[in-house]
Amino acid sequence: MLKKLFQSFRPPLGGQHHRRTTPEVINQNQHSLQRSQFSRHAVSIVERLQSAGYQAYLVGGCVRDLLLGITPKDFDVATSATPEQVRAEFRNARIIGRRFKLVHIHFGRDIIEVATFRAHHSEEDQGDSHRSSHNASGRILRDNVYGTLEDDAQRRDFTINALYYDPVNERILDYANGLHDIRNRLLRLIGDPTHRYQEDPVRMLRAVRFAAKLDFGIEKHTVQPIRQLSKLLREIPPARLFEEVLKLFLSGQGAIAFEMLVDLELFEPLFPASAQALDERPTYTHTLISQALSNTDLRVEQGKPVTPAFLFAALLWPALPARSLFLQSQGVPPIPALNEAAHDLIAEQCQRIAIPKRFTLPIREIWDMQERLPRRSGKRADMLLDNPRFRAGYDFLLLRESAGEATDDLGQWWTDYQEANDSERRDMIRELGSRDDSAAAPRKRKRSPSKRKSGGDGASD
Ligand code: ATP
Ligand code: MG
Repeated sequence: MLKKLFQSFRPPLGGQHHRRTTPEVINQNQHSLQRSQFSRHAVSIVERLQSAGYQAYLVGGCVRDLLLGITPKDFDVATSATPEQVRAEFRNARIIGRRFKLVHIHFGRDIIEVATFRAHHSEEDQGDSHRSSHNASGRILRDNVYGTLEDDAQRRDFTINALYYDPVNERILDYANGLHDIRNRLLRLIGDPTHRYQEDPVRMLRAVRFAAKLDFGIEKHTVQPIRQLSKLLREIPPARLFEEVLKLFLSGQGAIAFEMLVDLELFEPLFPASAQALDERPTYTHTLISQALSNTDLRVEQGKPVTPAFLFAALLWPALPARSLFLQSQGVPPIPALNEAAHDLIAEQCQRIAIPKRFTLPIREIWDMQERLPRRSGKRADMLLDNPRFRAGYDFLLLRESAGEATDDLGQWWTDYQEANDSERRDMIRELGSRDDSAAAPRKRKRSPSKRKSGGDGASD
């Protein structure tokens, strides 16, 4: 499967395959796009800018996706007008961003993003830190050097993302042989791949995201430098990585994206502790994470809501036991050790990926539930059932079991309990008390993940 993804279907035509100064123009009768497929707000913005004398096009993901028969997520406009000029044309427009200045035009809840044509940065531009700035490894910190349409096409990431659609004359402009790559289902960076990744290492994640989402291969020169450059992701602001990781894992192809991240050594810089767990207990860790992602993909496909908290809880869970065991070896009792390990792990993870508080709290609650689900005696079971986190905690328990953790059939017990009527429930609780598994004596029962290793949890690799 991965082999297929990384295969190059056709060799690039020399190094200049994607460099053109005049575009290939594809007329209305030579392509499948229709103006009516695009957001009417985006089309009206383009028309308005063009009648004000600017160049303006629909560009990027929306053109790519419609050519592939996919419904676009959003509609981006590119124009020769500066952000200030765009703002002057529309009452409902706001300039946003510093690193990359954009205009957001609001139509109720719909927002259309309008970007001014950008150029690669010349030496001269780099003297002006308001427009252009780089760090020592060549990463672009500020990208506000404006240019022509041709320039704009060259600074985009992949050839398939550099197609411009003009809804007025319904023509497509192709400067980078993007249509050729669409036809061959191939992701190809524009320009020298190493240089383009150094400029913006997030492009490595975008390569994985688009390959997974579109089921495209990655052209071999585009894939080749990734393993060597993956560490550059450590320099990326954690807030940007959070956004990018959500897109990778929550757009319906998370399981395959995870396989590719691991294969391309991009998982380690994003989730260092989980990558270590993957090394130490490969089968268990891999099964747990892939299973969580496959479940998520299924929910996305069915249009059900998905929460990042559950996913992050799963991604980090395999890294907990080692930490908690270490603390125990320092004399910390099991339950506080687990709590401290959970706290430290999340704090460390947030240095790489800024998980907002509204998600870290539920992660902790899902983990805490794992501690409480075995303790069912007296009124405990019914109280747990009323807990707003019960469902997530129960689903998480089933996930752990599917990855091979031995939990004494606790998942099945809870499944039965939820389906049982009042008197059956009372019987189930009574039965627990009579069993010799001490479920009724929670204080003696230390079913923490830290115990799992020594107790032999069955999830061995
Ligand atoms: P989708 O919206 O489906 O995630 P997209 O291709 O529209 O995919 P956006 O992040 O919305 O992706 O970006 C819009 C366009 O801007 C892209 O198609 C690409 O041309 C350009 N672009 C975005 N990010 C980068 C980047 N890091 N480097 C170069 N070009 C980029
Ligand atoms: Mg987009």
